[in-house]
Amino acid sequence: MVTIATLGSHSALNILAGARDEGFKTLLLCEKKRTFYERFRVAEEIIYVDDLSEIRKKELQEELIKREVILIPHGSYISYLDLDFLENEFDVPIFGNKFLFRHESDRTSERNWFLRAGIRIPLTFEPEAIDRRVIVKYHGAKGGKGYFTCESPEEYYEKKVEGEVQIQEWVHGVTMYFHYFYSPLTKELELTSIDRRYETTKDAVTAFPGTEPTYVVVGNFPLVVRESLLEQVFDIGDKVVKASQTLHEKGLVGPFCLETIVTDTPEIVVFEISARIVAGTNVFVPYSPYTYAKYFEPMSAGRRVAREIKNALKEGKIKEVVT
Ligand code: AMP
Repeated sequence: MVTIATLGSHSALNILAGARDEGFKTLLLCEKKRTFYERFRVAEEIIYVDDLSEIRKKELQEELIKREVILIPHGSYISYLDLDFLENEFDVPIFGNKFLFRHESDRTSERNWFLRAGIRIPLTFEPEAIDRRVIVKYHGAKGGKGYFTCESPEEYYEKKVEGEVQIQEWVHGVTMYFHYFYSPLTKELELTSIDRRYETTKDAVTAFPGTEPTYVVVGNFPLVVRESLLEQVFDIGDKVVKASQTLHEKGLVGPFCLETIVTDTPEIVVFEISARIVAGTNVFVPYSPYTYAKYFEPMSAGRRVAREIKNALKEGKIKEVVT
């Protein structure tokens, strides 16, 4: 019997609650210091490790394979398991398509993905060409630390410190994070929910004029989009799924998120993708207005993942939904 497992971080409660809803055995791999998971009831079993990177160890991998574990990846996986290792040496089945993580974590590949999809994205600039407000992003910057905005080449050189950057058009609008689920079994794209992030210091109670905000995500708000915009929401989602199939034969599988700014046109401008479950879906346990309109029963992102695994097992197609 399959056990659904994940790492103790990010969206583990959501994932394991959903697995329980679908009747799976659940397992959490967790650092010793994070005993707070014991205060909840989603993990039937917890394996404690000193450090999450211990799941690289052969013995632990073998143990997980023996237990027929399917691991559900979330935002912390890439930090604990480097991409080369994950693609080439990690043998535990992972739900979704791990070969796309590379394309979400590198800004250039991510941009190519969007260009293939033909969706609206922020323009990018060389320093000398800056002629409007831009946001300067360091590669691999965690949580938007060190980002800055400027309006001219002079201001850019004044503010820039070491490191590779991408200079993006500053898109004026509000952020919306669209959570999707693509099922290779039904070939259907679903909108599961939408969130907005709570970022410190950008959303600080007192914003100090003249200081650059930071964008460290510490929470999420639930959102619904103006209903007439749903056509655009599905259109960009469909295009991104289609383009993903040109990057890897399996394309996107399961949950993913498009991080966007919605302008007053209104137009949805996509600035980032997460090719797995995002923490913004945590707000929607046990369901969202969108999953309710499709399932008429509790259906969170975590449960939707477990449902897909259940259906795949039933149809003898588990290989289609794991990598
Ligand atoms: P990121 O680290 O790329 O997710 O960006 C962090 C935050 O910066 C986002 O949540 C937005 O508030 C803001 N942001 C990112 N890209 C842009 C852009 N092109 N225009 C305006 N704001 C942006």
